[in-house]
Amino acid sequence: MSDCIFCKIVEKEIPATIVHEDDDVLVFMDIGPIIKGHALVIPKKHYDPVTETPDHVINKLFLTAKKIAAAQMNGLGADGVNIMQNNGKASGQEVPHIHVHVIPRFDGDGHHWNWNPKKYDDFDEMAELAHKLRKQL
Ligand code: AMP
Ligand code: ZN
Repeated sequence: MSDCIFCKIVEKEIPATIVHEDDDVLVFMDIGPIIKGHALVIPKKHYDPVTETPDHVINKLFLTAKKIAAAQMNGLGADGVNIMQNNGKASGQEVPHIHVHVIPRFDGDGHHWNWNPKKYDDFDEMAELAHKLRKQL
């Protein structure tokens, strides 16, 4: 994808601070870290969104994210890690090349997700949504 910023990073056409690279994936530091040490794991080949990405690529992305999470804990002293993956504008995705955010978290780091749990109207509403999901599986 010629106009994809992450493809350009893969091709080394624009700079990035690379943490890890192999035949399949590239890991580099997020330029706008939620918490310092925030890394992105991407496949070298362009895929998007997650539902269009082959299973073997998903496996590799998340196995790599697991390694990066361990590195953040062992190497940066993180107390926890957020692993996130956004799909579509509605989700807040800005770069349409599949990527996994691996964000180190430290006790008292001061970051709070704007996590605002809603309530279902009743049990039936929740069950109906679960039913719709089940039918697709
Ligand atoms: P998302 O909102 O899930 O699409 O996340 C895109 C992420 O890519 C953001 O966290 C950005 O800070 C990050 N990002 C965008 N451009 C670059 C770049 N050139 N180098 C490193 N990270 C980038
Ligand atoms: Zn791309």
